[in-house]
Amino acid sequence: MSTWSLDEWEDKANADNHLVTYQLHITLQQMRRVCVGRLAEFLFPAGHYLYTGSARRHLSARVQRHLSQQKKRRWHIDYLLMASDVRITAVGLFSEAECYCNQQVGGEILLAGFGASDCRAQCGSHLKYLGR
Ligand SMILES: [Zn+2]
Repeated sequence: MSTWSLDEWEDKANADNHLVTYQLHITLQQMRRVCVGRLAEFLFPAGHYLYTGSARRHLSARVQRHLSQQKKRRWHIDYLLMASDVRITAVGLFSEAECYCNQQVGGEILLAGFGASDCRAQCGSHLKYLGR
């Protein structure tokens, strides 16, 4: 088991310092147009998404940041998460590398390059659309 509810994930993250990768389970209630920084405007269909990222240090602080609405938009994912009707529903935590975890996820790439500016493993995107 590596996917946790919003009540559980922080204890799990703090209990194991081998964890470096997180996956945000994201639900979009309705189709929404979001301007994603320099990737331009994109129409995200309603449904479930999985976003994979990593933080070699301060993993729980990073996930907390994603859960917070009080921040400056910096990464692609910030633009999506700060749109209305977008919710994180669960958090996955892993000791394996970010790209490996991302590639274990099925789903569809809707927006090439999303969250993948630093990706050297040809993931195509670190945001996957899992459907409705
Ligand atoms: Zn990657």
